[in-house]
Amino acid sequence: MKKIEKRFYRKNVELFDLINKIKLWPSKSGNLHGIKTIVYRGEYAMLETHCGEKILIKNSRNSRAARWLKNKWYTQPCKRCKIPQWKLDKYGTVMFSDHYGKRLNYNIKREGGENE
Ligand SMILES: [Zn+2]
Repeated sequence: MKKIEKRFYRKNVELFDLINKIKLWPSKSGNLHGIKTIVYRGEYAMLETHCGEKILIKNSRNSRAARWLKNKWYTQPCKRCKIPQWKLDKYGTVMFSDHYGKRLNYNIKREGGENE
């Protein structure tokens, strides 16, 4: 029997740290895309999905995408992104908590931005 390991992350994580870790992107239409590249530009980042979509996003804890990612709201994984099942399974084990879990503070090198 395989043990299901749950991962706990803090709920107030920033969107950039979240996508940097999870590498998935929920589009407004409900598709879950796989993220191929992230280019940081200060408070903004340009995502490229595996299916070739380019999306400009702003760093935020409370944006639609951050909420959807934390709540795992999506209708289906994008067929063209071909997200491997293990990645979806892994995402399924991630839990978000107010009080404990990893803080996910990466020192992301952000071009044009200042490092804190
Ligand atoms: Zn896609």
